[in-house]
Amino acid sequence: MLSQMTLQAEFEAFLSGFPRNPQDPRVLSGIADDIEEHYPTLGQVLGEEIHEFFRTPFSTQRIVCGLAEEVEKAYRSSGVSIDFYYYAGEFYTGDVNACAVKVDGGFLFLLNTGLIDCIHKFSCAHIFSDALVRQADGKGHFHVDDDERIQGYSFNWLAGYFADLAIKYLNFQGFDNIYKLERPQDERLYVCRHIINVHMWIFIIMHEFAHAVLGHLAVPHVANVATPVGLLPLLSKSHKQEHEADLMATRVLLSMGCDGQVMTPEETALADLKMASIANFFFLADLLGSVSNAMQGAKGDENPQGDEGSTHPDPLLRLQFIIDALSVQYGEPCTEFYPRIATTTAWFNLIKPRIMAHLQGSL
Ligand SMILES: [Zn+2]
Repeated sequence: MLSQMTLQAEFEAFLSGFPRNPQDPRVLSGIADDIEEHYPTLGQVLGEEIHEFFRTPFSTQRIVCGLAEEVEKAYRSSGVSIDFYYYAGEFYTGDVNACAVKVDGGFLFLLNTGLIDCIHKFSCAHIFSDALVRQADGKGHFHVDDDERIQGYSFNWLAGYFADLAIKYLNFQGFDNIYKLERPQDERLYVCRHIINVHMWIFIIMHEFAHAVLGHLAVPHVANVATPVGLLPLLSKSHKQEHEADLMATRVLLSMGCDGQVMTPEETALADLKMASIANFFFLADLLGSVSNAMQGAKGDENPQGDEGSTHPDPLLRLQFIIDALSVQYGEPCTEFYPRIATTTAWFNLIKPRIMAHLQGSL
């Protein structure tokens, strides 16, 4: 068995060629302000302890371990036991933002800290812009009033913020110079933002766990990919395996923190927010893909990387697969149970064209 210290040492060596300090606590400094005791399920992990972690070296490592422990618990209560080790660091590799590989004694989970930070900022801007979307009628029509503002932020300004976030993330610029959005004054928005943020993180971890649980990592490495931090083993996974991992991750995520057969109103609300988090994760992935293509197009690349070059299927298809599979399982559209899928999809459909329009001016 690898000890945590051995693992740490191993990956410090692994990362030694990397130009930036992987332990830099500033990377996640913005998040520290947000972790409080609001969260019912992960209260223990997300309490003051983590507030402290964000201000100390190895903080990202600690939060990933904390979240991953919760993930392990959730898998264990669904009857699955698996040995996992975790490492969070800066992997400026483009595609490999999170992956799991087989190591002696278990599995090693790698997570890009930049992605964690990006998700946090995405959640901050999401909750304000989402609150500006209005339902025009009972028939699922949504619109935005351009003059309306929340704490001074307009929908269009927030679209520009998303564009800036995506460009900085994809250019590996770090987020030191990005505008820090205010904390929502409305306590409900604040709690929702936090829950969505955390579940976007957890979904990534759950997805990689699922690959291990489902035996997708048992095949030999197909290739090593040269990255700025050395060779990373890349496993070739089929789109079918990606969908399977998404579905298992979704089911375990939904089961987390729900004990009884009958769901309490709080559990129902939480499940709805969890599904919104999953949807948002795929919207973020879709956005990063589109912005990346636009950036490459602006540089004059002949063949901007489409779905072909990626190991994962199109993000929006991944989301649709989950919705379809849950609907089959429930015997009725799962959107009945998770109304936020519809509202968060409406939000994304309204904001994405605006983000892309902002991009034209920035590239
Ligand atoms: Zn995957």
